[in-house]
Amino acid sequence: MSDPEGTWGVYVHVPWCRRRCPYCAFYVEVDRDVPWDAFIDRVLGEYAWRRRSFPGQPRSVFLGGGTPSRMPPHALARLVRGLNAYPDAEVTAEANPEDATDAWLENAMAAGINRISLGLQTFNPRFARLLNRMSTVQQAHQTALRIAAAGLRSWSVDVVFALPEQRVEDLVVDVEAILQVGPPHVSLYGLTFEPGTPFERALQRGKLAPVDDEVWRAMYLRLVRELEGAGLRRYEVSNFARPGHESVHNLLYWTDRPYLGLGPSAHGYAPDGTRWGNVRDANRYLEQEDPTATSEVPTPEQQALDLLVSVMRGRLGLDLDHLARHTGHSLPDAVVDDLVTRSLLVREGRRIALSEAGFPVADAVIRHLAGRLVRTVAEAPRAD
Ligand code: SF4
Repeated sequence: MSDPEGTWGVYVHVPWCRRRCPYCAFYVEVDRDVPWDAFIDRVLGEYAWRRRSFPGQPRSVFLGGGTPSRMPPHALARLVRGLNAYPDAEVTAEANPEDATDAWLENAMAAGINRISLGLQTFNPRFARLLNRMSTVQQAHQTALRIAAAGLRSWSVDVVFALPEQRVEDLVVDVEAILQVGPPHVSLYGLTFEPGTPFERALQRGKLAPVDDEVWRAMYLRLVRELEGAGLRRYEVSNFARPGHESVHNLLYWTDRPYLGLGPSAHGYAPDGTRWGNVRDANRYLEQEDPTATSEVPTPEQQALDLLVSVMRGRLGLDLDHLARHTGHSLPDAVVDDLVTRSLLVREGRRIALSEAGFPVADAVIRHLAGRLVRTVAEAPRAD
């Protein structure tokens, strides 16, 4: 791909958590004694080296994890300053409810954080216990109120659904309570039983059961109704925002922009199309000069698949000319027309996107399109 607009973002993976949540498959370390200064040194060292292939300054910074809200104020301030983002950049930190005290918020904002993504998950005590959350529901509620009043540019909450034995009625009560706090952005997570997690082992032993597909779909549709009713518009399958509160960083992923991933297990996508992944090991990350575990310029076919997967979940969807120019692949008109006729896609000129009926079955639609890509030129161009 080429990057004529020079818009890119930085993601920093901060891998440490107080304990491991039983459903989580991210790369995390449970460690009381985190070498914060050494970590910031390494991240900024990696940044200085990798950013040579990225033009100008990042338009967004996202500190994810793991639990970045565990980072001491001096480390957070040094990290944000060192990333030297564009003056008006969106700078997000994920925070867990037990960390985001008044003092933490004040320090985070002084460090340059202007958006918080709160790992709220649920206000239902029974399901909070199932998820083994550190914070009580009351604590999570107080934290959400505190963040709402803090004067941030924006903030977001994560809401989980499709939990074992959860009913649509439970979810409705939960989401209504969450919406009462007034988040301008909500990210939904339908629970999945990821390989290697305690939840997956419980599933194998028959101790936990997933909700069936019908219930999943009913829950998703009900969430969409509740969120849109509260003025939050879907701008990606699982992400909803009031106008002007869409995440700049998320939009980079869903509009095929480059991003620079830093830290253990982080991934990146350079302006020249190279994709890389870092080692999933904090000690090796701290010790190795080059933390890259994998790096490749994808084949044109892989580029086309990556493009479909990254942009089709977003409301803006896919520009068919962009697909042809950047990957040398196309989608036959008959395939697109068939999905339009079945009301799963909408088409406007050369742009296709999921329809209302297409969003709940996004993965199936994308798989269908991926299986019908056609190579149209011998060599995909690397740049415009
Ligand atoms: S706090 Fe977040 S990143 Fe850490 S284990 Fe729990 S879900 Fe995973």
